[in-house]
Formats: sequence, structure tokens, C-alpha cells
Amino acid sequence: MIKMVMENSDMTDINFDLPSDVLDEIQHNIQSIIESFDIPDDNKFEVIRKINFMYTQTKQLSITDALTNLYNRRYFETTFKREFARAKRYNSDLSLAVIDIDFFKQINDTYGHLCGDYVLRELSWIMVDNFRQTDMVFRYGGEEFVILLTETPFDTASIPVERLRKAVESTRFKFKGTELNVTISAGISSSKDVNDISEMFENADKALYMAKEEGRNRVKTFG
Ligand code: GH3
Ligand code: MG
Ligand code: MG
Repeated sequence: MIKMVMENSDMTDINFDLPSDVLDEIQHNIQSIIESFDIPDDNKFEVIRKINFMYTQTKQLSITDALTNLYNRRYFETTFKREFARAKRYNSDLSLAVIDIDFFKQINDTYGHLCGDYVLRELSWIMVDNFRQTDMVFRYGGEEFVILLTETPFDTASIPVERLRKAVESTRFKFKGTELNVTISAGISSSKDVNDISEMFENADKALYMAKEEGRNRVKTFG
């Protein structure tokens, strides 16, 4: 992940935190925008800076989730496709973890949606903190998250996911003076022995279902 700092004359400096492939795409597209306009030399730099800022900001918004700041489902779909193709081509290991908060509806029903939102944000911090820089954490939907673990064989993928499960279990979530216990369940699958991304996703989802069936607050690997 590369940090891009943009100075903007109207606002304070803003930090964009975008992966290198997205930065490459932005650079390429801005280049084509600039080439198609006849910009006078005296304010060329200012115009380029503004285009750069607006384009990067829009891009960041389109791939992230507003509540948690994690990458969103849309960006997961493109990244998953690309990483799966890469793993197949170079015969490397890609693992996928699907994570779901246990009894999250109860948290919302008992303490309200604001409390539920607080848990989602806190949990997102814990997740990002727990994984390697080369792993990517996404909010898939409501209280479901997915993690792509590149160059990570099936059997070793459960180590960081299990570490996350323990970290969540032992974290004391505190919302307006109330302490909450939160646990997660996870299912893990591998790119080995599957033909496409939907099969790989389904396998992780099946493992997650098993984790729920067996009592929740656990990590299961498929197969
Ligand atoms: P299980 O252990 O089987 O996963 O039980 P659960 O209660 O977590 O599962 P269920 O799918 O029934 O509930 C998910 C709940 O997540 C439903 C909804 O109230 C809540 N939810 C989804 N998105 C959001 C959100 O953005 N904010 C808040 N506060 N709640 C959300
Ligand atoms: Mg769910
Ligand atoms: Mg749930």
C-alpha cells in the first residue's frame, strides 16, 4: 500500500491510502485527461494538481465503505478475480477467509444501531491491525467481512485468522459505559483444487456455516 499525500489549496492536506494498482490506474487516466486538453502553461501545474486531487478522492470513495473505511464489496470482486488469476498462473497459494459477527442482531436489538455501528468500526480496526500488509481486508456486507491472504497456503491461513478470533474475543468493547462481548466465526478456503472464484467463495462460506453450526466463535477450514 502506498500513501499519496495531496496538497489542496482549499482544504487541509489529505492522505489517500490506495493500493499501487489503483494509483497506476489513476496516473494513467489523468495522463489521458491532460493530453486531451489544451492547458495554458502558466497554470498547468495548478490544473494538474486539482484534477489529481479530485480524481483520487473520487476513486478512494468508490472503493471504500463509508462506515468502516475498509475496502468495499465492489473492490473485493475485482481484487479477488485478479488475485485468483495470478495464483493460478504462477501456481501460488491464495487463501480466502469469510468472517461473520456472532449474534450481531442481538447487539443491535439490545443496544441500538449506533452501538452496532460502533462495533463494526472497532472490529475493522482490529482486523486491519491483525493482518499482514499484503493481506487485504474488505467489508463484504452488513456484518460480514472477507480477507484475501496472498501467498498463503491453506494450512497457515488459519493462524492469523485464529489470532484475530482470539483478539476479538478478548477485546472489551465499550459503548456509552456498557461493556460488550463480541465474537466472530470464520471459514477459510484455498485456491488450490477449485476452478473458479465462485467455487472458492462457496467453500469458505460452507466452512463458515460449519463454524456457526458447531457453536460459533471458531475458525473452520474447508474440506
Ligand atoms: P449469526 O451468529 O448467525 O451470524 O447471527 P446474527 O444475528 O449475526 O445474524 P443475522 O444475519 O441474523 O444478523 C445480521 C444483522 O446485522 C442484521 C442487521 O441488524 C445487522 N446489520 C447489518 N448491517 C449493519 C450496519 O451497517 N449497521 C448495524 N448497526 N447493523 C447492521
Ligand atoms: Mg451475517
Ligand atoms: Mg452474524
